[in-house]
Amino acid sequence: MPGDIVLLGAPGAGKGTQAQILRQRFGYRQVSTGDLLREHRAKGTELGKAAESFMERGDLVPDSLIIKMVEGELEGPGAVLFDGFPRTVPQAKALDVLLADRGRGLPRAVYFAIERAALEARLLGRWTNPRTGRVYHETFNPPRVAGIDDEDGGPLVQREDDKPETIANRLDVFEAQTMPLVAYYEEHGGRLVSVDATGSVEDVAHQLVHAIGVEHAH
Ligand code: ADP
Ligand code: AMP
Repeated sequence: MPGDIVLLGAPGAGKGTQAQILRQRFGYRQVSTGDLLREHRAKGTELGKAAESFMERGDLVPDSLIIKMVEGELEGPGAVLFDGFPRTVPQAKALDVLLADRGRGLPRAVYFAIERAALEARLLGRWTNPRTGRVYHETFNPPRVAGIDDEDGGPLVQREDDKPETIANRLDVFEAQTMPLVAYYEEHGGRLVSVDATGSVEDVAHQLVHAIGVEHAH
């Protein structure tokens, strides 16, 4: 069985897009903390209410809340792709412990390398299916009919935090709080590989499959 994988990269780097491809092709289970938090907000849970103001500003939700939420997602068959988690060094350390406690190996991380300048255009043109988390881009990866999901025919929405001021803060937060994870995964077991995330969706998928070695799994 392939091991658990952390997709590490800035907002807009393409983590969700690639997670969806790997899930379909190789049967990974995707754990996206952003999608989980948006579900909590939609349902109006205590966690959703606690997370709301952080998400609206583009700040990180406190580690303790995130770690507790992820703990509930670890049971179940198959290898997991963590998408948007961990985002801080304490979260990365907690994940290593949670997986070890369950007799799973340490996760490997794939860093999506991309210049900040490319990210704003990706985020400003992003359209999402809130029911499934599937993402499109109005120019780079458009649906067949604008505003409509190809798969379930339902409406696509633009995320509230995909607006210029919030994007700028999210990218600053990424550089300050999440970039240190590149060194964390390099220094704790040489667990980091990088892909060039500037190419086409298929090009990045191809690199990713090689980077994590799943091309021989099927
Ligand atoms: P993340 O999950 O890292 O925030 P997404 O997967 O949601 O990023 O991608 C952000 C936006 O960029 C989406 O609109 C998506 O369609 C688009 N996108 C993803 N990968 C690529 C790519 N390789 N080239 C161009 N656009 C991309
Ligand atoms: P994403 O969908 O990954 O872009 O996440 C959207 C928002 O959810 C972020 O801007 C944060 O406010 C919050 N969030 C998602 N994942 C995490 C995490 N691992 N740690 C802290 N906050 C998170």
